[in-house]
Amino acid sequence: MSSTDYKFEGWLGFDKSAAEGNMKWAEFEPKPWEETDVDIKITHCGICGSDLHTLRSGWGPTNYPCCVGHEIVGTVVRVGSKAEGGLKFGDRVGVGAQSDSCQGRKGDCEACASGMENYCGVHHVGTYNGVYLNGGKSYGGYALYNRAPSRFVVKIPDAISSADAAPMLCGGVTTYAPLKNHGTGPGKTVGIIGLGGLGHFGVMWAKALKADKVVVVSRTSAKKEDALKMGADEFIATAEEPDWAKKHASTLDIIVCTVSSSSMPLMQYLSLLRFDGTFVQVGAPEDGLPTIQQFPLIFKRLKITGSLIGSPDDIREMLALAVDAKVKPWIQEVPMKDANKAIVDMEAGKPRYRSVLVNEPQGVSQVKAGL
Ligand code: NAP
Ligand code: ZN
Repeated sequence: MSSTDYKFEGWLGFDKSAAEGNMKWAEFEPKPWEETDVDIKITHCGICGSDLHTLRSGWGPTNYPCCVGHEIVGTVVRVGSKAEGGLKFGDRVGVGAQSDSCQGRKGDCEACASGMENYCGVHHVGTYNGVYLNGGKSYGGYALYNRAPSRFVVKIPDAISSADAAPMLCGGVTTYAPLKNHGTGPGKTVGIIGLGGLGHFGVMWAKALKADKVVVVSRTSAKKEDALKMGADEFIATAEEPDWAKKHASTLDIIVCTVSSSSMPLMQYLSLLRFDGTFVQVGAPEDGLPTIQQFPLIFKRLKITGSLIGSPDDIREMLALAVDAKVKPWIQEVPMKDANKAIVDMEAGKPRYRSVLVNEPQGVSQVKAGL
């Protein structure tokens, strides 16, 4: 069963000013339909830091008009005859920050062949601001509907609400994957730098993966109480403790840094690592990272690496862990019609710790109706 009498409408950015709360509600043309696709009626979409970088062309020119949002949850309203994953009309599903890869269609691709589609270097398609192999543009989830290749659509477990599941699809998996890949577990001490959307997930995953100790590194003590409630064992407020780096030197095995600004004390962060420790940068400042001095790396055999979102399988695995360990994100639900205000609040660092846009149940254009 499917019904195709719906229009794709959402909040579009037309130029850089969109990031200042100047997105406009309008119709857009989804990618030309393929039988491997599904259409999703969006109920929820989280607001990620990447949405702002993209709306303001912070990482390079954005292909406007652009509808951001890549923490999408909704129900399947159309299923292609060649869709993967047993998806059915009415299923509750999600799409994260990636909605296509080469999938081996353009020759050999080690990443896609080994279930690490997120590292596809041949044709990685972001859920927004991307171009599919068939030439269609990708439009994200600040909208009523989304069309996505089925390989990148995952079922949401019954035990997780749609509002809670949404931010896991990018913010969640972006911290889950590196923590898992770098051996978080018993015997390890983990540092999470920046307690925002990504960072708060990092704390909860590190606890769920049974790290011995989780340390949050934040700028001020404003989020300390929250961090401890999330499960953190220690909290460092870098702007308030002049000797923080000395005091906590060589105490951490794995660091995940979610900081989105280049004005970070990177060498001091690195000094927190023990011999052989690993620093994983996931935050993506628009003007790069500070200069790195070599001797601290050489003398402690430190490793600096990065990590990009997660594959569909990583997302499934993370959702299963969330069910088992009862991981529940800290979110605020915001009506879809208030998306412009919500991104301004995000820029100001207000969410505690993720805002999730919510469409009205009847799915009509509440923007047209309500504004
Ligand atoms: P967010 O909710 O705004 O969190 C970012 C946190 O970084 C803030 O809460 C803040 O934590 C810290 N921070 C901000 N400015 C800082 C500064 N000047 N100095 C030190 N710390 C600062 O954003 P998010 O959604 O978690 O995203 C974070 C970054 O990750 C963005 O750049 C986003 O594009 C990127 N990202 C990367 C991937 C990937 O695959 N690698 C995926 C998704 C997002 P405190 O208040 O605790 O200091
Ligand atoms: Zn994201």
